[in-house]
Amino acid sequence: MTNPASQSPRYNRILLKLSGEALQGSQGYGIDPETCSRIASEISDVAKLGVQIALVVGGGNIFRGLKASQAGFDRTTADYMGMLATILNGMALQEALENAGVKTRVQTAIEIKELAEPYIRRKAMSHLEKGIVVIFVGGTGNPYFTTDTTAALRASEINADVIFKATKVDGVFSDDPVTNPAAEKLDELTYIEVIQRKLKVMDMTAITLSMDNNIPIIVFNLNTSGNIKKIVLGEKIGTIIREVAS
Ligand code: UDP
Repeated sequence: MTNPASQSPRYNRILLKLSGEALQGSQGYGIDPETCSRIASEISDVAKLGVQIALVVGGGNIFRGLKASQAGFDRTTADYMGMLATILNGMALQEALENAGVKTRVQTAIEIKELAEPYIRRKAMSHLEKGIVVIFVGGTGNPYFTTDTTAALRASEINADVIFKATKVDGVFSDDPVTNPAAEKLDELTYIEVIQRKLKVMDMTAITLSMDNNIPIIVFNLNTSGNIKKIVLGEKIGTIIREVAS
C-alpha cells in the first residue's frame, strides 16, 4: 500500500488546468471523445469525495495564437481564435462530464449566450458550493494571455486552495525529460526557483500571479490514471510549487 493518505480530501476547492492537448488523445489534433471520457471519469471520482472542482481548459489542440501569428496571422485576431478554441474544448468536456453523471456549468469570458453562461464570479462560487463542476472557457477574454494565466487568475478569484496543472510528464524536471534522459525530477520548488531557473512549468505571468496570491501549484501526469484523486487524498505525486518548500 503506497498511499499513506486517508479518504478525507486534503483540499476543499481545486482548480484543474487542462491543456487543449490533453483532449486530443493519440490523434495529435482536435478532440478525442474517448480521452474526454477518461478525464471525465477521473474528475467524477474526485467530485464524489465532495471536493469542489473548477476547470480551466486550453485550446492548443485546435489553435494557438502565438504560433499562428508567427505564420502570418494578426496576433490579436489569432489570440481571439485561440480563445474560441477553448470554448469548443469546454463544450466537449461538459458533454463528457455530464455523461459521467457530473453536473456542470460552462462559464465563458467571451459571451456566447446560447451556449454558456458569462463568467460571473459569484455565480461560479455558488455553483461550486452546490457541487457543480464549473468549466471556465474563453481564457481571460483578452489577447496576449494564456490559459495558464487564466488558471492562476480564476484560482485567485474563486479562492481555490490549489492549482492542479495537468501535464504529460511526471512533474517539473531540471530539463526537458523527453529530449534529455538525464533530466532530474524536482519534487518541491518555490515560485522564485521556478522563475530564476526558467523552468518550463507555466508562463511567468501565471507563476507570478500564483505567487502573489499564495496559491500552490501541483504539476502532475494526467496520463497516469487515478493521479488527481491520489493527490487530492494527500499522496505526494508530481511537483509542488509554493512559497516555502518544506
Ligand atoms: N488565449 C488568449 N488569451 C487568454 C487565453 C488564451 O488570447 O486569456 C489564446 C492564445 O492565442 C492561446 C490560445 O488562446 O494560444 C489557446 O490557449 P493556450 O495556448 O493557453 O492553450 P493550451 O496550451 O493550454 O492548450
